[in-house]
Amino acid sequence: MLLEKLREIVWKCNLELPKNDLVRMTSGNISGRDPQTGLVVIKPSGYSYEEMMPADMVVVDMDGKVVEGHLKPSVDTETHLYVYAHRPDVLGIGHTHSPYASSFAVLGRPIPPCLTASAMLGGEIPLGKYVPIGGAAIGAEIVAKIGHARAIIMQNHGVFTIGASPKQAAKMAVEVEEIAKITHLAMLMGQPIVLTQAQLDQMDDLYTNLYGQK
Ligand SMILES: [Zn+2]
Repeated sequence: MLLEKLREIVWKCNLELPKNDLVRMTSGNISGRDPQTGLVVIKPSGYSYEEMMPADMVVVDMDGKVVEGHLKPSVDTETHLYVYAHRPDVLGIGHTHSPYASSFAVLGRPIPPCLTASAMLGGEIPLGKYVPIGGAAIGAEIVAKIGHARAIIMQNHGVFTIGASPKQAAKMAVEVEEIAKITHLAMLMGQPIVLTQAQLDQMDDLYTNLYGQK
């Protein structure tokens, strides 16, 4: 079987989405790109997370052709492929309709950087304009608007995250929702305090150089 290790990683990362309450039923997906072969492993379309196994992951090439897999790939595959083609630094992509982050998408508002954890996502989480789902056009909007951020909210839709691995993309999906939830709750009580760029840079340095185990 092709890319056995990456299949296992992508499968596990997909399971993080329902585990962290970011998706309901079959929505959402995570993919991973293999830098050696350029092949992409992605969740099958409309497939239940509980039944899903590593062998159900679909391997596609950069043209979207299924190279290996007995199921249809996610309807968001073309979107993922566009981002991979234009961002060689990205090896993992996540997509959810997690409710707090998506509430900002419904309002058409970026998520302001009001928490130290916002630095992990590159500060403000930008907003992409409304684009119908399922094609390269969403990918183009993500690439155009995401900048140095690791997540973007797409108007009237949901969240896309990027990372140096599928694991990082999944982690960012969890972080976006957490930040969106806290900011949303704060906005019910008043005006959130937005961090300055200097404060965000300082936190970014900590997350990059000190946080976690070596
Ligand atoms: Zn979606």
